[in-house]
Formats: sequence, structure tokens, C-alpha cells
Amino acid sequence: MKVIVIGAGIGGMSAAIALERAGFETEVYEAVAEMKPVGAAISVWPNGVKCLNALGLKQPLRALSGNMAWMAYHDARSGAPLTRFSLDPLVQRTGEYPAPVSRAGLQAMLLDTYGRTRVRFGRRVTHAEQTSQGVTAFFADGSEATGDLLIAADGTHSVLREAVLGERVARRYAGYVNWNGLISVDEAIAPADQWTTFVGDGKRVSLMPVAGNRFYFFFDVPLPAGLAQDRTTLRADLSGYFAGWAEPVQRLIAQLDPLTTNRVEIHDTEPLTRFVRGRVALLGDAAHSTTPDIGQGGCAAMEDAVVLAQTLATHSLGVEDALLRYQARRLDRTRDLVLKARKRCDVTHGKEPALTAAWYEELKTESGERVLAGMCDTICGGPMG
Ligand code: FAD
Repeated sequence: MKVIVIGAGIGGMSAAIALERAGFETEVYEAVAEMKPVGAAISVWPNGVKCLNALGLKQPLRALSGNMAWMAYHDARSGAPLTRFSLDPLVQRTGEYPAPVSRAGLQAMLLDTYGRTRVRFGRRVTHAEQTSQGVTAFFADGSEATGDLLIAADGTHSVLREAVLGERVARRYAGYVNWNGLISVDEAIAPADQWTTFVGDGKRVSLMPVAGNRFYFFFDVPLPAGLAQDRTTLRADLSGYFAGWAEPVQRLIAQLDPLTTNRVEIHDTEPLTRFVRGRVALLGDAAHSTTPDIGQGGCAAMEDAVVLAQTLATHSLGVEDALLRYQARRLDRTRDLVLKARKRCDVTHGKEPALTAAWYEELKTESGERVLAGMCDTICGGPMG
């Protein structure tokens, strides 16, 4: 059986690796000539780590990962800790460590595992057609590719989603802008083994360790969509948005490199009611775009990949039947993740200021128990337990 995979991002590459390990032939088609991941890093939580472990990537993933042993929230202005607790209970309960990794490292690991030279770069799919026998993908350069089924892992702006759903899906602006990048670890900003977050005014500044003695950092600011982006004013813009915030935040703004700092307007999509039409299945952000507020978009794509390969390998009633079973196993799980992230997003970013103020108060008495319980529920709700 031959599977056409569209998109060589986290979802497409995880799917291609999982499918090949399950004995399927795959061809991966990617629109861009060279992968330049949008975003500096990603936290792969234990549900995602377990999926990558199942793809034989346990050791390389561990080598890319920072040691994130603690979690802390700090008050924006005074810099005083609101709460600090160990992540060990999460590791014990889920059976895996969280893996904050640079996106470039993660993407390279996936490409190299599959075989970088096997990916057909520079091939932008425009549409697909299917019969009862197979699927053909058509590309902008006039070429085409045929397989028994097609996995559309072409991201949040998926061109194949509309044909699967029978309607167009508009993305929803979540109300805030995220800046993210990497800097060398500086313990005057945050401890090297901690996920540190400064919160106030519906904004946040966060740092996570990744391999290579680096911090992944991000800033969130509630703002209207569509403001001009200008790297030459990036540092001054952040200084303005975070005026009066604690010294470590000012130090981070001074140290970041505006040329490698990304700016993203955060969107999600309403949970879809289907991922599959016949021999075509959506996977990853094409199927479920989520705000990054619980760090689960990429992890969900990894879950999709493992479930897809497992479902195809373990059922015998044909491609269309197996894809419907994949859909059945993924719809509710990904709906929950999208809606949970949206809820978290609104509290974190001051959509209802009273709720956000109450959350800041709650953090002062947080032992870690409530936060970790929520994280463990999210993680353990995945297909790997
Ligand atoms: P993408 O990564 O978008 O890949 C799609 C690929 O398809 C791209 O390479 C694209 O070039 C290609 N493509 C597009 N159109 C076509 C076409 N027509 N033909 C051929 N190829 C095409 N997730 C986590 O798990 N943890 C986190 O901590 C986390 N943090 C995040 C922080 C931010 C700021 C953001 C924005 C997201 C974050 N996410 C996180 C979510 C995560 O980045 C995404 O869920 C994940 O990258 C989705 O992977 P994907 O392969 O489905 O899509």
C-alpha cells in the first residue's frame, strides 16, 4: 500500500516515519524548497515523547531536550516568585520526561530519520482527486502523484481541508501576539533547569531550557491582529509592552536577537466534525489548529501519526474503513485539546480581567498540585496513556 503524505512538518514527518515502520510505502511532498521551521522551539510533553519513543526516537529526542525539572511563576513587576514546584510528580505519573526542544533540532531529527533526500521538496499540492481505487495529488508545477491513500499534513492553512470538509474553515484570531526565540542560558534571568514564567496585565514572559545551554523564550501580549511587523523596532516594542516589568525581563529583552526572534499572531480553528473523506485524511494542524497555550499542537500531531499507522496496520476492511477508525479515535481527543487550550488562553491573556486576576491570586497559594493535575490529565488522555 502506498501513502502520499503532503507536508513535511512535525505531523507529516511523524506520520511518514510511523507508516514506514508499520510496513507501508510512503512518498512525502513538501511545498517549500528548504524547511525553515516557524518558531524557535516547542515543548514536547510526555504524550508526544511517548509517540516519538514508539517511532524509535527516544535517544535522539533526549539528546535535543533541555532538563526542565522545575516550574515557577513570578510576579511581573516585583519579580517575586508566586509559586515554584518540582515537575517530578508529572514525570512519575506519566512515566516520561517533558522534552523542550529547538524546532530546528526536532525537524532535522525527523527528516534525517525518514531520509532527507527522499522528501520531495518544492512540490506544492493544489488539489486531490480520488476514485474507489486510489488518490491522485496534483501539484502547482503540473506534476502529479498517485497512491492508495493521501494524508494531508499541510498545516493550519491546509489547501486540502476544504475538500475533506465540504466547506471552508476560517481561522479564529485568539487575541494575542507571541514573540519567540532562543538565547544562551543566563541564570540572572532564570534558573537553567526550570520553566519560568512572569505574569501580569494579561501578558506573560516565559523561558524553558533546551539542549545546547539555551533558553527558549517567548513573550505574549494581547493586541489587535494586523499590526505592522518591523524587526528594527522589535526591541523597542517589547521594552514598551513590558515597561516596569522585573529586571530579568529587561535583561531578556536586551539580550535577544531581533533578527532571529519570531512574531506570530496566534490563531486556532473551531474543532472540526470530520478529518476524513474516503481515502483522504487530515492530520496535525490541518485537522486541529490550536493555540499554543497548553503546548499540545505538535504533540497532537504526533499522536495522530501513531494512531493512523496503528489503525491502518491492524484493520483489514480496507483503507476507507481504517481511516474512519482513525477519525473516530482522534476527533474527541483533539477537540478537547483545542478547547482546553482556548480556555487557558483566555484566562492567561486577560479576556475577562476578573478571571485573570483571580488566577494570579490562585498562583500565590499553588503548591503545584492543581497545575500538575491539569497537565497530567491532558497528557494521560492521549493514546499512549
Ligand atoms: P506544519 O508544521 O505547519 O507543517 C505543514 C507543512 O506542510 C509545512 O512544511 C508546509 O510548508 C507544508 N505545506 C503547506 N501547504 C502545502 C501544500 N499546498 N503542498 C505541500 N506542502 C504544503 N505544539 C506543541 O506540541 N508544543 C509547544 O510547545 C508548541 N508551541 C507552539 C508555539 C507557537 C508560537 C505556535 C504557533 C505553535 C506551537 N505549537 C506547539 C504547535 C505546533 O507548532 C504545531 O501544532 C505543529 O507544528 C503542527 O505541525 P504540522 O506538521 O501539522 O503543520
